[in-house]
Amino acid sequence: MESQPANRTNASETVARRGLKLLSNAKFEIILFVLLLLTVAAVAWQDRILVRSTVLTPQSIASYPSLIHTDNNPEIKGKSGGTLIAPMRWTCDLRAGFDYPYCGYEVFFNQPGTTKGLDLTNFRSLSIRFTYRGPGKSVRVHLKNFDPRYSKTVEDDTSKFNRVEADVTPGRVQQLDFSLADFGVADWWLFKHKVAPKFSHPQFDNVTSVDIQTGTEIALGHHEFEVQEIVLRTAIMSVAQYYLSLLGIWVVLIGIYLAYRLRNLRGELERRQTLQALTLRQAQEAEEEARRDHLTKLLNRRGVAERFETLPEDAPPAGLAVILIDIDHFKSLNDRFGHSYGDEVLSTIATLIKRNVRGGDFVGRWGGEEFLAVCPGIDALEAQHVAEKIRRRIEHFHFGDCEQVTTSVGVHWTPATGPELTELVGLADVALYSAKRGGRNACCLYRPGMAKAA
Ligand code: GH3
Ligand code: MG
Ligand code: MG
Repeated sequence: MESQPANRTNASETVARRGLKLLSNAKFEIILFVLLLLTVAAVAWQDRILVRSTVLTPQSIASYPSLIHTDNNPEIKGKSGGTLIAPMRWTCDLRAGFDYPYCGYEVFFNQPGTTKGLDLTNFRSLSIRFTYRGPGKSVRVHLKNFDPRYSKTVEDDTSKFNRVEADVTPGRVQQLDFSLADFGVADWWLFKHKVAPKFSHPQFDNVTSVDIQTGTEIALGHHEFEVQEIVLRTAIMSVAQYYLSLLGIWVVLIGIYLAYRLRNLRGELERRQTLQALTLRQAQEAEEEARRDHLTKLLNRRGVAERFETLPEDAPPAGLAVILIDIDHFKSLNDRFGHSYGDEVLSTIATLIKRNVRGGDFVGRWGGEEFLAVCPGIDALEAQHVAEKIRRRIEHFHFGDCEQVTTSVGVHWTPATGPELTELVGLADVALYSAKRGGRNACCLYRPGMAKAA
């Protein structure tokens, strides 16, 4: 009963561990998913990310130059008047005289003496919160843009009149919201200045003033304006630039991912190549091992046979000899000194034989206590010399406990490599038998007619 909570803890730990493993395996998918979410969010909330607002209040614009302008000009027979009461608060008295009586309030953004206004290149919208009292039905708003290609001074009417007009409800606080699309260039301005078609569209790259005027429809009488807030909204970049940036980020991320994958693939390829090389080497070593005798490290019978196969078919000028070496009375040596001592003797004799053959010769363990030396490019006399040298070296070697070990050696020499190895060894064995019969510790060269073992 008591072990139940422990079991439950173990189970929940296993579930948590599996969850973590799953998460770490799906790392790429998670990153991709998060990036997709970010992209969707960047598109959905592009306004919040891109749009910056410039808020104008009576307090914030107190230091900005501003003025009231009216049609009060004898040249156009205008008689209207206006009074600035406080920043963003003014009155107008429209009187008959000029054909289109008007009165407006203009706030300038440019520093006095300069023509540099606000850069609203990616202008989005304009909001005006204000109170109006009077006989008018609408107000006009201008965002005037100075461009030396068509403007002369900030003060005169050569700055472009980006114009919008909206109805008003007298007597209460109201807000007018205008988007970029609501703006047009005032007809009279286009007519008067006759600018090139490319300048006939609304433009906001250097807005030097905002101007709020009585509406187009003539409404003579007393008008009162009190603006609480003007908000100009612009984006830090155009929508096209924004989407291009998102696309650019994706292109860079995909590029980084591809480079990362490529590096990983290259690493994986190198790892596989190394593994392949290792496996190949191990296989080669295993192959080599299969050709060697474990005890003496000499070639085994298969190794000798394979090496023999590699000898050129045509015998070298001097011919070829096989020398079969058999330890005398090895059985009794084993019996007297033990099997492991016998093993040591086998290894020592292997080394002695190897040391006493010539450069191109090769040596193997042919059977239990029998060794075979194959000597290509040798004449019969030299073969006997080599065999005799081996026999003598073994005879005179001091083996320790048993002091002396002797061998009987059978030599067969042939002028050609044509015959099979087993055939050659068979004849060397006949010579070996002859050496054994002759009293051991001797070398015998095979001669036709020699007696074979019974
Ligand atoms: P002979 O002079 O007639 O050759 O007599 P021999 O005793 O050497 O020959 P025999 O064929 O009667 O005995 C060979 C012995 O070699 C028998 C076997 O126990 C021993 N022998 C074979 N392989 C090994 C080995 O790997 N280690 C040891 N210690 N002895 C071995
Ligand atoms: Mg033997
Ligand atoms: Mg023997």
